[in-house]
Amino acid sequence: MGGSPHPHVAVVAFPFSSHAPKLLAVARAVASAAPSATVSFVSTADTLPRFKAGAAPANLRFVELASGVGDGDLAGTPPWRRVELFLEAAEAGGLKQALETAGAGGTRVTCVVGDTFMSMAAEVGVPWVAVWTGGPTALLAHIVSDTLLQDIGEHGAYAAVAEAASRGDELVTYPGLGRYRVRDLPFIGTRHGGEFRRIMSQLFRRVAQRVPRAATAVAINAFPGLFPPDISAALAKALPNCLPIGPYFLLPGTCAAADDSHGCLAWLDGRPACSVAYVCFGTVASLPPDELRELASGLEATGAPFLWSLREDSWSLLPPGFMDRAKANNSGLLVPWAPQAAVLRHPAVGAFVTHSGWGAVLEGMSGGVPMLCRPFFGDQAMNARAVEHLWCFGKAFDDDKPFTSGIVAEAVKSLLDGEEGIQMRARARELQAKVVDAFGPDGGSTDNFRKLVELLCAHE
Ligand code: UDP
Repeated sequence: MGGSPHPHVAVVAFPFSSHAPKLLAVARAVASAAPSATVSFVSTADTLPRFKAGAAPANLRFVELASGVGDGDLAGTPPWRRVELFLEAAEAGGLKQALETAGAGGTRVTCVVGDTFMSMAAEVGVPWVAVWTGGPTALLAHIVSDTLLQDIGEHGAYAAVAEAASRGDELVTYPGLGRYRVRDLPFIGTRHGGEFRRIMSQLFRRVAQRVPRAATAVAINAFPGLFPPDISAALAKALPNCLPIGPYFLLPGTCAAADDSHGCLAWLDGRPACSVAYVCFGTVASLPPDELRELASGLEATGAPFLWSLREDSWSLLPPGFMDRAKANNSGLLVPWAPQAAVLRHPAVGAFVTHSGWGAVLEGMSGGVPMLCRPFFGDQAMNARAVEHLWCFGKAFDDDKPFTSGIVAEAVKSLLDGEEGIQMRARARELQAKVVDAFGPDGGSTDNFRKLVELLCAHE
């Protein structure tokens, strides 16, 4: 490999929700593929211990980035304020300082591979490769959001957007977005509000300004051929040097052992093929209490075994006796965390009930499992739409149609046992085969990852 004799790549995480593990996968893969490079994984002090666990390539180091909370009470600061303080500190020189620390006493940082949310990396004076962790078409939408919102009658007037959303208008005039509806857009005002909304819209405004102008390349969590040609062409046009290198969790060198401390895989081992419904809504989203109870009753009504990863603070909201009954007849396992990617590859899993976060979509696809999508916010509605209409391996519910016990029972049964489920599983397995091909010796993701590593090692 040519280029600098001592490349030093800083991989910068956005240390909230599921972003950082996805960046860590990229960091580990780059470190394994370029043993002569130094790779510094940059994240906040409270998150680093988690990422240091397990064996790491010898050239991978960990560097602290200011949380922005200072001497304040990290745990007592509300989540939205932590995000805001962190971004303010990183914008105000915190990222630059962390990169100087990374380079102190050794090779200075020659290139930043940063979460796209950390777009202040555009200003630090070395080439910036942006890593997008979410659904790629959501990034397209963010980049054209100004025009888009003007066209659909927004800018303060969210009523107009909501009206367009309820009509279900499709975005046919926007390159790459023609299969999505107005209501699927990540910045439609009806889904989440308040402080988070304000912070995220500032963040995405900066992303939309900086990525097309300043990124040397943009890595996306997808493989070549995943999207139809019009969407791929729109991504290639909108994003400088767009490199589909995903799914990131399958990059060579990333495979750390799955954390199965709650015994999910052993519990699945005893089940017939495609018999279990796996339920998980990711690291942030949570169902309103009524809907959570409806989901629980619906699962129970199917009579099918279920594995449910649910954060512990929601367990008390489940219907009375729900878990006792599941335990008594060994029909369900409730855990606070599951090794999801491994669970979805287990032959016993036959349906995935999910918020359709992009990680979930790729893991469902890689496991060949049909999905039932109940999106909440961000890219999730676009992802759900793509699962149902682009790839046809699942069903999507609109977020204004809450789960009822009857809906859940019917949909889960149809995925596990029905004709529709058979067809969707066949589609999911075709996609699964494409994922395998993408990481073959001549596969599209293998090839793009090689290009990425060459690019990173070319900078001095
Ligand atoms: N995840 C997991 N076990 C759990 C819950 C979540 O392994 O019990 C992982 C999952 O594999 C996925 C990530 O957390 O990679 C969640 O990412 P996604 O993009 O689906 O959703 P987000 O949490 O960002 O909303």
